[in-house]
Amino acid sequence: LGGSISRALQQMSNATIIDEKVLNECLNEITRALLQSDVQFKLVRDMQTNIKKIVNLDDLAAGHNKRKIIQQAIFNELCKMLDPGKPSFTPKKAKTSVVMFVGLQGSGKTTTCTKYAYYHQKKGWKPALVCADTFRAGAFDQLKQNATKAKIPFYGSYMESDPVKIAVEGVERFKKENCDLIIVDTSGRHKQEVALFEEMRQVSEATKPDLVIFVMDSSIGQAAFDQAQAFRQSVAVGAVIVTKMDGHAKGGGALSAVAATKSPVIFIGTGEHMDEFEVFDVKPFVSRLLGMGDWSGFMDKIHEVVPMDQQPELLQKLSEGNFTLRIMYEQFQNILKMGPIGQVFSMLPGFSAELMPKGREKESQAKIKRYMTMMDSMTNEGKPVLDSSNPKLMNESRIMRIARGSGRQLREVMEMFEEYKRLAKIWSKMKGLKIPKKGEMSAL
Ligand code: GDP
Ligand code: MG
Repeated sequence: LGGSISRALQQMSNATIIDEKVLNECLNEITRALLQSDVQFKLVRDMQTNIKKIVNLDDLAAGHNKRKIIQQAIFNELCKMLDPGKPSFTPKKAKTSVVMFVGLQGSGKTTTCTKYAYYHQKKGWKPALVCADTFRAGAFDQLKQNATKAKIPFYGSYMESDPVKIAVEGVERFKKENCDLIIVDTSGRHKQEVALFEEMRQVSEATKPDLVIFVMDSSIGQAAFDQAQAFRQSVAVGAVIVTKMDGHAKGGGALSAVAATKSPVIFIGTGEHMDEFEVFDVKPFVSRLLGMGDWSGFMDKIHEVVPMDQQPELLQKLSEGNFTLRIMYEQFQNILKMGPIGQVFSMLPGFSAELMPKGREKESQAKIKRYMTMMDSMTNEGKPVLDSSNPKLMNESRIMRIARGSGRQLREVMEMFEEYKRLAKIWSKMKGLKIPKKGEMSAL
């Protein structure tokens, strides 16, 4: 797929005269690639029209880097299509929110409910799960198992067959218990049956959710638009989660879901496990859609801003995939200085969206400084132990010592280790990374 796009752009840059015909051929090639990524035909056509308006043929003819200009235009256009223009409702910690999950059977609702709860619990929330799926046998057991594993309170029944009744009871109970995130899992039938939508509407009416999340399997293909629209017409969908992004599907259906529900994608599911769940980040997603590989921009940036003599060492460390506390410490230092490598790391999906959300740079900096103070206090008989410490082996007494030594709370030290694990996971994805030579970098 990436191949065909780059071939199209290559042909284009080889052509001496860039006229309408060449541009059209190029766009048609890219259209085919996007269709293969399950982007809806109509959306691709809209994009084509917009690109033609944006890309100025005179500019292209004047010898600017044609490939770059078109590539950038397409990239930007796809990013825009994933932005519905308004953010979704965001629950606030310590204030009660009810969040209802909807979607077809097998899309990953129950799994995602737990992931969503677990994600917030790790950040200090008090989530709870309500099983309003009385249709499928075993639905309650599944939710119960997940919830127990994550130590999240849950509510459901083996006897009661009315999902509305259970939903209402569950929500009421957890409101009384001062839970701040009450998550209602619903049933999804095989097809988009009338009965399913009616039941969903009733659960929604009775529990008055602050947010309805539409869960979509990334491999749904061209059916995504109709499916998302059908759900949107029955309940007030306010956000989308795309699951199974660890599979083959590139997730082009996400564009359809955004278009049909006018809601943003907020998370993606990347595996069956509880922590295989990521905050949705537009740019790496679009890179993947275009077959550019998540790291191409990142590698470009390394060559652009990291001094030549430091590049081999950094790339070597990356390709080994071993993330130590020492590396984390050094990268934090770089980020605070916003030196060259700091700039590079701020581009990493995990670093940018989670650690340093846009518009909250001050808070993020303070947090990073706090983490560094704690790491500074990790000594053994006066010697720093960042290289030899394995965070997986941290026991309570060590964590307590770090907290005391840095004057921080236990919870904060644990949060720092959580952060470490999260970053180590991102870092490990780069293991075995082929290190391209300069000049190979800018090829799409
Ligand atoms: P529901 O019917 O919508 O509640 O879907 P489930 O939560 O029961 O999930 C259906 C299947 O998809 C289960 O086998 C899950 O383990 C699996 N699943 C859910 N999310 C993901 C994901 O992000 N990646 C992978 N690989 N499997 C997932
Ligand atoms: Mg389910």
